Amino acid sequence: MKKITALIMITIIILCSCSISGGEKKAVADFFSMDTYMSVTAYGDEAQSAVDAAKKRIEELDSLLNAEDKNSEIFRLNSDGKVVLGENSFELVTLALEYSSLTDGAFNPALHPLSELWGFIDKKYRVPDKKEITDALKLSDTENIIPNKKNKTVKLLKSGMEIDLGGIAKGYAAAEAARVMSGYNISGAIINLGGNVRTVGKKPDGSLWNVAIKNPVGDGYLANVKTTDKAVVTSGGYERYFEKNGRTYHHILNPDNGYPADSGLKSVTIISDNDTLADALSTALFVMGEKKAERFYKKSKLGFDFILLTDDDRLICSKGAADILSSDYEINVIE
Ligand code: AMP
Ligand code: MG
Repeated sequence: MKKITALIMITIIILCSCSISGGEKKAVADFFSMDTYMSVTAYGDEAQSAVDAAKKRIEELDSLLNAEDKNSEIFRLNSDGKVVLGENSFELVTLALEYSSLTDGAFNPALHPLSELWGFIDKKYRVPDKKEITDALKLSDTENIIPNKKNKTVKLLKSGMEIDLGGIAKGYAAAEAARVMSGYNISGAIINLGGNVRTVGKKPDGSLWNVAIKNPVGDGYLANVKTTDKAVVTSGGYERYFEKNGRTYHHILNPDNGYPADSGLKSVTIISDNDTLADALSTALFVMGEKKAERFYKKSKLGFDFILLTDDDRLICSKGAADILSSDYEINVIE
């Protein structure tokens, strides 16, 4: 009798867990990679295999692209000044250079010496003096990065130059994770790589994914975005910073002066079909500030929407973003 009761109980528990996810199998992987916490969730018959494949692919990319990993291709490029890169690393360096040029240098993948100087790499934070900053800035000219498409080499023309793909690699990894997951039988997935979110398909109940954007101030949310099959990528000074003598210094640097970007923005979210573009632009628009970002958006044919939170707490969105978001803030729409 006891056995039968136990069996019934187990059956009920199994039925309950199925109904919670709309009758679909659910799998989640929470892990740390690319120096951030990541979470990949999928629904469907092959949810577990899809999530495992995504995690494997992200970790593979981290081991190629991480400038701090002594075995990575980017580490080798930075120490040798000229190397043959694998297909992924070469593609991403080339894309980083393309986005750097499209954003008029606001996105700059050659700021590693500067990030090091500020202590953002070894987490021994310090405020460098002007001379140190001027010297490190001399190593940040992207014209001195020479990719060769034919033999996949990249050459750094100045000794001491170092590439940092930290502003774009998570977007690229999110796209790759979605690509490998598409080979499995899943109905939907949400990939969150430390603020780089990619939504795939629909939720088990058939509705759109709800991406909550963190409010840089306090614990609440700035906005909720309803999407499917889009990247929703957020950059903000609040993600990594230190304080010294009452001032806050954060990790997104202005390539024009070598200091943390002080452009009047607290956070930038980019919504796009293209994860890698969204990642590069979230960093670039944060550097540009409100007015430049708006001008860039109006001129650009890149295909993206944006949500900006200014230092004086105004929420400014492109029309496409305003159409799919809800927020307690008053929304100022840019057409
Ligand atoms: P994200 O969180 O995508 O905005 O990327 C920030 C990271 O990109 C930093 O931690 C640096 O590694 C790197 N970075 C900082 N400033 C820039 C910049 N102006 N352009 C490109 N990458 C940057
Ligand atoms: Mg970025």
